[in-house]
Amino acid sequence: MCGIVGYIGSRDASTVLIKGLKRLEYRGYDSAGIALINGELELDYRKGKGKVSNLERALRKDSLIGTLGIGHTRWATHGEPNDINSHPHLSESGNIAVVHNGIIENYNTLKKKLIERGRVFQSQTDTEVIGHLIEEIYLASPDITFEHAIRLALKQIVGTYGLAIINKEFPDTIFIARKGSPLLLGIGEEEMFIASDASPVVEYTNKVVYLDDGEIAIVNRNSYKVKTIDDVPLTKEVHELAISLDAIEKAGYPHFMLKEIFEQPRSIADCMRGRINPENGTVLLGGIEDVMDELVNARRITIAACGTSWHSALVGEYLFEQLAKTPVEVEYASEFRYRDPLIGKGDVLLVISQSGETADTLAAMREARKRGALVLGICNVVGSTIARETDAGVFTHAGPEIGVASTKAFTAQVVVLIMMALELGQRKGILNRKKMKEYIRELSKIPSKVEYILEHNDQEIRKMASLFTYAPNFLYLGRSYNFPVALEGALKLKEISYIHAEGYPAAEMKHGPIALIDEMMPVVVIAATDHTNDKMISNIEEVKARKGRIISIMNDDNPEVKKLSEFCISIPSTSDCFSPVLTVIPLQLLSYYIAVNRGCNVDQPRNLAKSVTVE
Ligand code: GLU
Repeated sequence: MCGIVGYIGSRDASTVLIKGLKRLEYRGYDSAGIALINGELELDYRKGKGKVSNLERALRKDSLIGTLGIGHTRWATHGEPNDINSHPHLSESGNIAVVHNGIIENYNTLKKKLIERGRVFQSQTDTEVIGHLIEEIYLASPDITFEHAIRLALKQIVGTYGLAIINKEFPDTIFIARKGSPLLLGIGEEEMFIASDASPVVEYTNKVVYLDDGEIAIVNRNSYKVKTIDDVPLTKEVHELAISLDAIEKAGYPHFMLKEIFEQPRSIADCMRGRINPENGTVLLGGIEDVMDELVNARRITIAACGTSWHSALVGEYLFEQLAKTPVEVEYASEFRYRDPLIGKGDVLLVISQSGETADTLAAMREARKRGALVLGICNVVGSTIARETDAGVFTHAGPEIGVASTKAFTAQVVVLIMMALELGQRKGILNRKKMKEYIRELSKIPSKVEYILEHNDQEIRKMASLFTYAPNFLYLGRSYNFPVALEGALKLKEISYIHAEGYPAAEMKHGPIALIDEMMPVVVIAATDHTNDKMISNIEEVKARKGRIISIMNDDNPEVKKLSEFCISIPSTSDCFSPVLTVIPLQLLSYYIAVNRGCNVDQPRNLAKSVTVE
């Protein structure tokens, strides 16, 4: 999920690698490390938790000299950020070093087998299996070349990877491979650069080869070979880089927020990776496996969170109650903690926080734990305080989120809640195998449906945004699963465009907000929850009768909604309970384009911080 660099040439590799890792810092990371082959043809490495500048300082005291090496910034997915879990990871003999971006889904099975065969592991990462596996295959037969061993090992690996591998037996070669995690090769004069995006490479060369999924490359100082994982040689196009550093960091998008919105098909897929099985209709969340019995027996679940995470908590309430028949209460973490809450033994508190450091949420968690409740967490940052202090939990695996206004973290949180509710419903016998299969099959289609929404609605949303750029107020209405989405849509708009916006359950509008509606008021209606469709249409009629300007989000073609609306965004339909993951996408885009039109600082809105660590 984070950064890889590699260098082979005649320069001092440490210097190039450190500079490259600094160029990748914008992606967010928790640890850094490099490995190189030194003048005595020994493999040596330095790594540790924290900033690249720490690593640089350590290298100033204790340098690594060589002209070939690989480097990594880690954003932990498996095993907390600490020195040992930092990359590179070595094979059993220490001859091979590996840096990896991505997730190895079947690492547990592979690791168990490797341990049975006598391998000793140092870290808790998924990555460490790679070096052990390659070495075991390589040493098993003198007929197997190192490159062949890599290909055979990769065939056993399920998951995603960008990989750079060195072996001290081959002091003139870096081996790289890609599946689902970007990697490119920069071609210089008698030197080669490897990186997970072009930012570390641009200052040296503008000639690059992008590796595609399922490809490996064998890179020497003067030459490189690209092959498929099945050993078929490939001729790759050499591209000329003509973009600025700033554009590279944002993958060509003008803001991190837009990049993160467009990353959602991938981040949602990452969140589900290895956890759902559409064939058997099962969900397995390793992080809460040990507390599943307690969850099954829980009288109720209380969910505490703040901001956007509080909105996913509200979606969670509908999910747990419908799919697992478990009563849920949702609390603002800040209120829960000062209210002398009635929580204790036999109760469950689930906290949700992107950063895992939100001060109010932490305080709520500690309060509940003091009173004897089981505390569970959903967060995005491995090794964060919430991840460490909860009894169990599930990571969202959405990757680092840099834009202050949360987008991909929200959809990943909702997907985790969906998976938790499904697993709980299954264990409680509420969802039978047939129903589970239907749900899981549908869930697995969500990433491609998000992709469809992003591809097909962007233009229309831009048009709407230009029309409503200077609206002073917005109203967002939703029902059932999409009531929390109405709140989230309004919050996104407030956060980044500074327009006053309110989210309401659509029926509640009659009890107050309807007084605000006139021909100046844009009303965003999320009319994509099928079982409340008729009621929603009546609510839209009520807005229309007062001349409100209706923007609606609807499923496929809904002629009645269309007739009543000034603008319609049509999105693919799905189970009602998965709907928030789709309906929120157009709302994220709408607030983004309005904020851009108003000239606001989208990635760092005024007065806001990414991680709210004060109460
Ligand atoms: N899954 C690996 C780990 O947790 C790689 C994470 C990354 O992409 O930085 O160590």
